[in-house]
Amino acid sequence: MTKRLAILGSTGSIGRQTLDVVDQSEGRLEVGTVAAGTNWQGVLEQVRRYRPRLVAMMDSVAAEKLADALQKEDIHIPVCTGEDGLVKAACHPEVDTVVTAVSGAIGLGPTMQAIEAGKHIALANKETLVAAGALVMAAARNKGISILPVDSEHSAIFQCLQGQDRRHARLILTASGGPFRDKSVEELYHVTADDALRHPNWRMGPKITIDSATLMNKGLEVIEARWLFDTDFDDIEVLVHPQSIIHSMVEFTDSSVIAQLGLPDMRLPIQYALSYPDRWTTNWPRLNLTKMSSLTFQAPDLQRFPCLKLAIRAGRAGGTLPAVMNAANEIAVHAFLDRKIGFMDIPKIVEDAMEAHEWMREPDLLTIRRADEWARTFAEMRVNHGREVSDC
Ligand code: NDP
Ligand code: MG
Repeated sequence: MTKRLAILGSTGSIGRQTLDVVDQSEGRLEVGTVAAGTNWQGVLEQVRRYRPRLVAMMDSVAAEKLADALQKEDIHIPVCTGEDGLVKAACHPEVDTVVTAVSGAIGLGPTMQAIEAGKHIALANKETLVAAGALVMAAARNKGISILPVDSEHSAIFQCLQGQDRRHARLILTASGGPFRDKSVEELYHVTADDALRHPNWRMGPKITIDSATLMNKGLEVIEARWLFDTDFDDIEVLVHPQSIIHSMVEFTDSSVIAQLGLPDMRLPIQYALSYPDRWTTNWPRLNLTKMSSLTFQAPDLQRFPCLKLAIRAGRAGGTLPAVMNAANEIAVHAFLDRKIGFMDIPKIVEDAMEAHEWMREPDLLTIRRADEWARTFAEMRVNHGREVSDC
C-alpha cells in the first residue's frame, strides 16, 4: 500500500534525504504535502517534481514569492504560511504519515496536531520530544498512532529491540564525539563556528551540527530515548564511538548486547521508519568491515562538554525544565552561528536559563510553550546584553 507523506522541513538535510528515499521507493511512498521555512526556490523545485497537494512556508514573504512563481507556471495548489500553515501541511486529509524534519521546537505544535488528526509520525525532530515528551507520547497512545524514530541511534535501538522485551534492556547510545572530541578546555574557548560546522562523519543542518560539537545533541537524544522507549534515565548510557559505524546498542539482563551497524547514511533510518515492519532492498553503499582498521570506544567527558550533563539534568527533572533547556540552547546555538557568542558561552547560557527558570512539575502544552518563550527571551537578553533577566 502506498504511504502518502507530509514532509515538514522538506528543504533541509533530512527532508531532502527523505525525498531520495521516496524516489527509490518504487511507488510505495508519495509526497502529499511539503513545508519549509524561507527557501521558496527549493520548495518550487519540489513542487515541479512531486506535485504535492499543498505547500507551507513559515515565512510569509517566502510564501508570497512561491505563490507568484506557481501562478506564473500555471500550477494551482494552496500555499499556506505561518505555524498554521505547518499544521495544515501535517494534518492534510490525504496524508497518512508525517516526517517531522524541521529544526527546533517549532515542530511541537504541528506534530501534536498531526497526532490528534490520527497521522503516524516518522520523527526526526527530536526537540519535540525533548520539550514535551510526556504529552506527545500520551497523545500518541490515546490515538493509537505510531511514532517511529528517524534519528540513527534511536532507529538502531528500535531495530535491536525487535522481538525483545524492552523492560529487560539497557540502552547504549553511541556518539561520534564531534569535531572537538580531542580538544582541551582552553582550545574549546577559541573554536569558531566554521570549525564546528566541519563534522567528521555526518553532513547535517547547521543547528544539529553545532549540537553535535557541544554534545548537546547526545543529551537531547538521551531524553528522546527516554520517551521513545519508555526507559529510565539510569538505563541509558552514552558511549563515544568516533567511527559512527555502530549506531547504538542494547544490553539485555542476560548480559547479551545487540548492536546495529551501518555506514553513516541517514537514508537507512529514514527508510526504515517508513518501511517498517518491512525492509526494502536498496543499492546504497554497503558496510565493508575489512576496510575498518578499528572501532574504538570511550566514555564522554562531561567536564569539557557540559551540555550533555545539563541536558540529562533537565531530562531527569522533567516538567518544564527540558523545554527551557532546549529553547535556551536553540537561541545560544544560533547566536554562536551568527558569531555573537563563543562556543563555551553556549552551556553557560543554557545553565543560567535553567537556574533562573521557575520550574513546574506537570505542565500542559500551553505552559510548555510559555516556558519555551520565557527561555528564548532570557537567552536572547544574555546574548545581546550579557545579563540575566529573571523577571522577563
Ligand atoms: P536543516 O537545517 O538541514 O533543515 C531544517 C528544515 O526545517 C529546512 O527545511 C528548513 O526550511 C525548515 N525550517 C527551519 N526553521 C523552520 C521554521 N521555523 N518553520 C518551518 N520550517 C523551518 O536541519 P536537519 O535536516 O539537519 O535537521 C532537521 C531535524 O532532524 C532536527 O530536529 C535534527 O535534530 C533532526 N535530525 C537530523 C539529522 C541529520 O542528519 N541532519 C539526524 C538526526 C536528527 P528552510 O530550508 O526554508 O530554512
Ligand atoms: Mg542522532
